[in-house]
Amino acid sequence: MRAYVIGNVTIDETIIVDSLPASGASILGEVGAHDLGGKGTNQAVVMARCGLPTTLVAPVGNDARAAVIRQRLQDEPLTTELVELDGKSSDTSIIFRLPDGENAIVTTTESAQNLSSSAVAAKLSAAQPGDLAILQGNLSHQATREILRQARGLQMVTAFNPSPLRPYFADLWALVDIVFLNQGEAAALTGATGNAAASHLLERGLRDVVLTLGREGAILANQRETIAVPAHPAIVVDTTGAGDTFMSVALASSARRNCRLDRLAIEHAVRAAAITVSRRGTQSAFPTSPELEALLALP
Ligand code: ATP
Repeated sequence: MRAYVIGNVTIDETIIVDSLPASGASILGEVGAHDLGGKGTNQAVVMARCGLPTTLVAPVGNDARAAVIRQRLQDEPLTTELVELDGKSSDTSIIFRLPDGENAIVTTTESAQNLSSSAVAAKLSAAQPGDLAILQGNLSHQATREILRQARGLQMVTAFNPSPLRPYFADLWALVDIVFLNQGEAAALTGATGNAAASHLLERGLRDVVLTLGREGAILANQRETIAVPAHPAIVVDTTGAGDTFMSVALASSARRNCRLDRLAIEHAVRAAAITVSRRGTQSAFPTSPELEALLALP
């Protein structure tokens, strides 16, 4: 089985500042990290580090940043299918980090918003029935809907993470098999939390619903059962990327065992997410391939 993650890629530039610039001000800062980011890329990197054959389909511009993105992706055990968009800028995040560790982030989405479903269709031509199609909330409404439809047409299993939150997500449920969402997303999209949110989504035809509950762990619900798994204990340093780690490891755990999401997949996911929250950063905080290999071998 192969996972196709269709989503965004960004270059994340961190600048360390004493305070945020006020309107009209010009301030000095220090260069911090220069990282690869974007939810699509985060999820693809973790899935690939789990040893699952993974293809990342992501849009870039034809600019200098695209070359950096290509170069950085070569360090990961991924197949990369970048769609180069003529005249567009590659997406980037500028992260202002304050001395107390708080962040203020500005992200551009020109590439993500201009990825077309026809460009993605060409990249999915080798997909087999049963392969995973994994999407998040950064692409345009129309492209997200069409790509989910194409994936269904290819008899792929569709998994969706409705983040960053957009109002149109509730239109997509009929095209989604598996959803992963946190408590805020569940409340916004279903008007409910916990088991009531899961029931709302199952009634709309989803096969598996996974609600992540931060330090409370997670719930997996389907037509047969509801399984609650507590979070794995962690000394929390930075929770950024916890949700991406969790989703990718849960999907990879079940895909590697050729089964549907189950308790073991969620147990693997909470352990992996506990590693991510115990380290600073996003991709630099993700578990490594050897860590994931050891974790996924746990019974
Ligand atoms: P983020 O946006 O920060 O990436 P999220 O909001 O999508 O995360 P959460 O529900 O906050 O998702 O966290 C995902 C998973 O990470 C949780 O289900 C849990 O397993 C783990 N996790 C999050 N916070 C903690 C914590 N304080 N201690 C241990 N595990 C945690």
